[in-house]
Amino acid sequence: MTLQLDRLTKTYRDGTQALRGISLLIQPGEIIVLLGPSGCGKSTLLRLIAGLDVPTSGQVYLGTRDITYTPAERRDMGMVFQNYALFPHMSVAENIGFGLRVRGITRAERQQRVEAMLEKLQLIPLADRRPDQLSGGQQQRVALGRALAINPSVLLLDEPLTALDAQLRESLRSELRRTLEQFRTTSIYVTHDQTEAMSLGDRVVVLRNGLIEQVGTPRALYQRPASAFVARFIGSANRIGGVLRLTATGPSAETALGPVTLAAAPAGAADGALIDVFVRPEDVTVVPAAGAALLAAIVQVEFLGDRLRLQVRTTTGATITASVAAHTMISTNLVGLCIRQAIALPTAGE
Ligand code: ADP
Repeated sequence: MTLQLDRLTKTYRDGTQALRGISLLIQPGEIIVLLGPSGCGKSTLLRLIAGLDVPTSGQVYLGTRDITYTPAERRDMGMVFQNYALFPHMSVAENIGFGLRVRGITRAERQQRVEAMLEKLQLIPLADRRPDQLSGGQQQRVALGRALAINPSVLLLDEPLTALDAQLRESLRSELRRTLEQFRTTSIYVTHDQTEAMSLGDRVVVLRNGLIEQVGTPRALYQRPASAFVARFIGSANRIGGVLRLTATGPSAETALGPVTLAAAPAGAADGALIDVFVRPEDVTVVPAAGAALLAAIVQVEFLGDRLRLQVRTTTGATITASVAAHTMISTNLVGLCIRQAIALPTAGE
């Protein structure tokens, strides 16, 4: 079933406009990530979808059914919370069977469905353990099992990985991805972590101040950000001013880094227009200074294991960040730079 959000707004009693008109059509089986900085309205939107709160205006449709005012317990949605929020006094099997018991499913059927879920999530040997006797990955599977056992039409995940340390978060993220793909339940995942969003989402919805800034596949958001906000929120980018050049060889820009090739020209912009040019650190390469068109002094080197993060100052006066492979030879202080490509946006002046 599709899930449709139609012009949702939410103004809290104190006058805070948390959502200012959110419309989105979510396809069956899609994994949607709601991404944005703290306070952009992610949790509010998730609460409206879950039925834990009602919008000030607008509708939520599940298929053709208007569920805007349907209470949470009658929406048939599964929920995974921050830290998983497993019931500590219940066994793995009881945790997974909880939603079925609440819904009054008979004991026999419950047992059968819990058994099937334990099997799918490879939890059979752990069925009688309590949550505190499980690893982080196992706890995550129990939380997913508990949410999925009721066979929900939509699975909602509210920053489940946020409170975990970096290493565990990364390994649980891959496992989570595998499980979501295994079940292919329509899923809505809330996070403020762009790496998580990129790795988990079929489509990512970037929210800002209660509005959708851009919706797209992780690749589209990365390669064709619609705004400076998205260019900087998804990955990182150096911003420099430029003048658009439209020639037979394709769009380019004159910048403080010299002429740079553009992935695309901003829609509607004419030759000679002032534009914002964004260069991703990984699109800057270091080349021998001899014969290079662009020269730069290295201001700072950060060793990150697999990469070096460089602050460089070009002889033309621009300071930018470059990300290069760790084995790149930085023998002298003066290096040549080559800009592989850049992203162009209309000048925003922010
Ligand atoms: P996010 O989840 O992206 O951090 P929220 O949806 O929690 O954002 O909050 C969006 C905005 O609404 C914020 O400005 C927040 O302070 C405000 N807000 C959230 N809940 C309430 C509430 N119950 N009453 C008043 N303002 C709220």
